[in-house]
Amino acid sequence: LPVVVVCIGMAGSGKTTFMQRIIAHLHAKKEPPYVINLDPAVTNTSFQSNIDIRDSVNYKKVMEEYRLGPNGGITTSLNLFATKVDQILGLLEKRAALDPANPTRKPIKHILVDTPGQIEVFMWSASGTILLDSLASSFPTVIAYIIDTPRTSSTATFMSNMLYACSIMYKSKLPMILAFNKTDVKDASFAQEWMTDLDAFQEALHGDENRNAFGGVEGEGAGTGYMSSLLNSMSLMLHEFYHHLNLVSVSALQGIGIDEFFEAVKEKAEEFKRDYQPELERRR
Ligand code: GDP
Ligand code: MG
Repeated sequence: LPVVVVCIGMAGSGKTTFMQRIIAHLHAKKEPPYVINLDPAVTNTSFQSNIDIRDSVNYKKVMEEYRLGPNGGITTSLNLFATKVDQILGLLEKRAALDPANPTRKPIKHILVDTPGQIEVFMWSASGTILLDSLASSFPTVIAYIIDTPRTSSTATFMSNMLYACSIMYKSKLPMILAFNKTDVKDASFAQEWMTDLDAFQEALHGDENRNAFGGVEGEGAGTGYMSSLLNSMSLMLHEFYHHLNLVSVSALQGIGIDEFFEAVKEKAEEFKRDYQPELERRR
C-alpha cells in the first residue's frame, strides 16, 4: 500500500514549497507520487496535482455566495469537498492497485497531501477530520509537521509551536515527523539540543524568562511565580511528546534533507502499521 504524507503547519511555514520539493524528488527517482491539494485558496499553481479541491469548489464564489470571510470560505469549501470523500478514496484505491489493462504501470508508493495555511481550519473542522480519518482508514498515514525554523528560535515561540504540534498529534492520533524547514536561513541544531536535553531547554527557558521579567510587572518574573512552574511542567510534558517523533532538518528551497525525510516517512509508516492500525481497527 502507498503511504499518505499529509503536510501540516502554520501559514508561511513552507508546506507548499516543501510539497513542490518532495514531488520533484520522487519524480527524479522515477517514483511519481499521487498528489492531492486540499488548499482551496492557494493561488500559485506551483505543482501539478492529481486531485485538486479547486477543481470542484470555487473558493471565491463560495465566499460571495455564502457571504463568508476567508476562514469561513475555506471551511465551507472543505465541507463541500468532504462530501466527495468516497469518490476520492475510490480513485486512490484504484491507483494503488496494479492495473491489469496496463501491467507496466507501477503502483504508486506515495500519496502527498497539501493542506490550507490556516491549520486550525483543517484540524478543527468536521470535514478536515473526515478527510484525514478516511485516508488513515485506507492507507498508512503520517503527518509531516512543517516548522518555520528561523521564526521558532526563541524559547517562547518554540514552546508554542511544539504544544501545537502535540495537540495535532493527540487529535489526529497519527505518527508525526517534525520537519524543521528553512534551515538554509537558520540551522536547526538549537531545536535538536532543546528536544534531546531537557536541562538545556529549561536553562534556556529560565534565562529568557528572567530577561523578559525586567520589563514586566513586578513579581511576575519566572524565577518564582506560577510561570516558572508552568514552564517546567510544560517542558516535561513536551519531553515525553518528543519520544514519539522523528525530527528532520530540511530546506524546501534548496532541497536539503529530503532523503532523510523519506527515511523518516518509511519508519513512521512501519510504526503506523504496528501501533496505530490495530488501535484504529479497535475503535471502529
Ligand atoms: P505555506 O503557507 O506553508 O504553504 O508556505 P509557502 O510554501 O507558500 O512558503 C512561504 C514562504 O516561505 C515563501 O516565500 C517561500 O519561498 C518561503 N520558503 C519556503 N521554504 C523555504 C526554505 O526552505 N527556505 C527559505 N529561505 N524560504 C522558504
Ligand atoms: Mg500553501
